[in-house]
Amino acid sequence: MDNLDFAQSSSKWSLHNHSNFSDGASSLEDMVCAGKAAGLEIFGISDHWVVPPFEGSDSSEWSMDLSRLDEYVETLQKLKKEYETSNFSLKIGLEVDFFFENINEVIKNLQTYPLDYLIGSVHYSGKFSVDHDAADWLPLDEDAKHEVCMEYWKKLEGAAACGAFSFIGHLDLPKKFALIDNSRYTPQAIKVLDAVQQNNGCIELNTAGWYKPCQAPYPDLELLQEAYKRNIAVTVNADAHCPEHLTRGFVEAQALLKQAGY
Ligand SMILES: [Zn+2]
Ligand SMILES: [Zn+2]
Repeated sequence: MDNLDFAQSSSKWSLHNHSNFSDGASSLEDMVCAGKAAGLEIFGISDHWVVPPFEGSDSSEWSMDLSRLDEYVETLQKLKKEYETSNFSLKIGLEVDFFFENINEVIKNLQTYPLDYLIGSVHYSGKFSVDHDAADWLPLDEDAKHEVCMEYWKKLEGAAACGAFSFIGHLDLPKKFALIDNSRYTPQAIKVLDAVQQNNGCIELNTAGWYKPCQAPYPDLELLQEAYKRNIAVTVNADAHCPEHLTRGFVEAQALLKQAGY
């Protein structure tokens, strides 16, 4: 599946982007056109792929309809033919939610599709959506918030350890709404980085966090330094949900990576 050498990743790469197949605002074609116009050389779409192992999930509101994967892949294959040049390569990806309960089955199914890469992400801690709405967090006391975070990190470590993903998405996402003490979870984040290293994996520097209440990328300098110590490749992404955001924060991200040692 994965022929991307993330050690070569640069500011001309952008692999975490969404279209209206999931919760993005624009069509696949509009996103691809914009990626090419932005001067990107390696451009990927990674719509959400969520197969919840429990009832009552809200994922159908923001994730791809599970019956549309053929259409998604076929559309992107057609766009490859139309838009690819020697300087512009279009990659077909998915942002896959990790669940211990069904990961093997989910990956086995996806391996039957001509996908170029998979992002491993965690958005649910149990049935709790960590990034949906700050209002979801407000009724939680400190212990409940801590439990949500610990479960999140346990799952993310599972995602890193399973070795099925091209890179791990938005490492420290629970900090999004600035409602937790994120530094408390550095030991958990380091366990995730150790698992990434053991699997020769990669992480992303996701710039979207700079524009959320936490006002910091996922992850920030300290964890990037830990990633650097472990020789982990980092790819910069905007997690764009519209064409205007495709390279948002990329200049700042490159500066931060440099500061981390890259
Ligand atoms: Zn995500
Ligand atoms: Zn995303």
